[in-house]
Amino acid sequence: PKFVVWFRNDFRFDDNPTVYQAFREAEKADGEIMFIFHLHPDFTSQINLSNDYFFQTVETFAGQCKDNGMKLHILSGSVQKAFQLLFDKAGSVHTVFCAEEYTSFAASRDEEARRIIEKNDASLVHTPGNYVHQPQEIIKNDGRPYKVYTPYSRRWMQKEKPDLYSSSAADIQTRYERLKALDETSEREWTEIIKRCTRPWKRLGEEAGRNRLEHFCQKVLPHYHKSRDLPEKAGTSRLSPFLRTGALSARRVYEAADSKRENHTSQGPEAFIKELAWRDFYTMILYHFPEVETKEFQEKYRGLTWREDKDLLQKWKEGRTGFPIVDAGMRQLNEVGWMHNRLRMITASFLTKDYQMDWRIGEAYFREKLIDHDPASNIGGWQWASSVGTDAVPYFRVFSPVRQGARFDPEGAFIKKYVPELKNTDKKYIHEPHKMNDQEQKKAECIIGKDYPAPSVDHKEERKRAIRMFKEIED
Ligand code: FAD
Repeated sequence: PKFVVWFRNDFRFDDNPTVYQAFREAEKADGEIMFIFHLHPDFTSQINLSNDYFFQTVETFAGQCKDNGMKLHILSGSVQKAFQLLFDKAGSVHTVFCAEEYTSFAASRDEEARRIIEKNDASLVHTPGNYVHQPQEIIKNDGRPYKVYTPYSRRWMQKEKPDLYSSSAADIQTRYERLKALDETSEREWTEIIKRCTRPWKRLGEEAGRNRLEHFCQKVLPHYHKSRDLPEKAGTSRLSPFLRTGALSARRVYEAADSKRENHTSQGPEAFIKELAWRDFYTMILYHFPEVETKEFQEKYRGLTWREDKDLLQKWKEGRTGFPIVDAGMRQLNEVGWMHNRLRMITASFLTKDYQMDWRIGEAYFREKLIDHDPASNIGGWQWASSVGTDAVPYFRVFSPVRQGARFDPEGAFIKKYVPELKNTDKKYIHEPHKMNDQEQKKAECIIGKDYPAPSVDHKEERKRAIRMFKEIED
């Protein structure tokens, strides 16, 4: 019989419970192993930054398998078609193993797959997903889920951490050799897709993830608590794309940071570990409150009247709002598919408060662009910034884009990197370039309204409007 590993968002060999369990079962039954990836038709019509990175990660993993004498079989078409093909080609399949995921999309896809798998007398087994703790693991004493991060994180910190399944492609290979399944499947569609993924990503896949983790732990982690809020410093881990694709195990990342926790260096690791707990927290929220995918966590805010304005929305998307820190963040997103956390908070707050636009619109835009796009964290982050989620900023505390810029990019170095029109602008005006007089604009080679836009809205006015919008629904 064949034991199938269905890779979805876990393109690694190290600490991969799915691979581990499949091999264990195959060995017990003296069966064969087969690796598959299903190219879901929902993701193939448009190649954006997010899935370009994702597909190239899959291709890197397929290469890693090949280099180690193994094969990642790529199935395409609907779930029904892909799995039927698997059974037609592979013959007697005993079990399909895959890591659990918690979106409504994943749930319905897995249900569809399960029907076909069971019809063919095989079973589908879910293994733990790529989290330090699974969403079902951390619950209150009364058995109910947490709704607030701090008590959740306290329990998360106390809970014993799961053991790691240390393993490399080479370890797996010796076992795969013996268990190898022989089938080939059609991969024409994959070749077409991968041809359309043209971005020259410098860092993807398991090896790059491990290198990044090592570099981060040595160079950045000790002062992470101080550097993490300054976008122009490489002060965060940038591990999120590896966690999202599963090129790195979240438990491995936890262990690496935890091992540096001792004595004087503990503040950095502690601050970092708290962020990893946020990732699990938002996944736990999505698991227990699946309605947050489309609805506000705080029910009282479900009827807010958001503004519709295509023009303003376009300005936000392109980074032409006239607020330098917002524009720099959006341009970073559009160029590299990643944005610093501080800027995600600022740009999300700007769209939902200064423009009073629906957080779902921003969430969808980030989804297309972010190479670390994670439904739970993205929804959580957007609902947080727009004051409608768990632990959210209260609606009356509206970020001032000028003050945020001055605080987190005091010299304007980050702004100048992504908004080159402002590269000669004096520090004094970098957060409010429209305040330059004509002479100063000439000197800075930046004519407001021509080279760089004037502020698209009046922050003070919009702040009042946003507060009114929330207040109306509260009353
Ligand atoms: P580090 O600061 O090095 O943190 C380490 C890891 O902890 C991250 O890789 C991430 O896995 C986790 N983490 C850190 N901060 C958060 C957080 N606030 N919430 C959840 N997990 C966190 N993160 C995503 O991974 N995918 C998203 O789609 C996403 N969308 C976001 C949207 C908004 C509006 C906001 C405000 C935040 C969003 N985040 C998202 C959280 C956070 O911005 C990113 O995880 C972080 O910027 C990734 O960079 P890093 O790996 O250098 O982070």
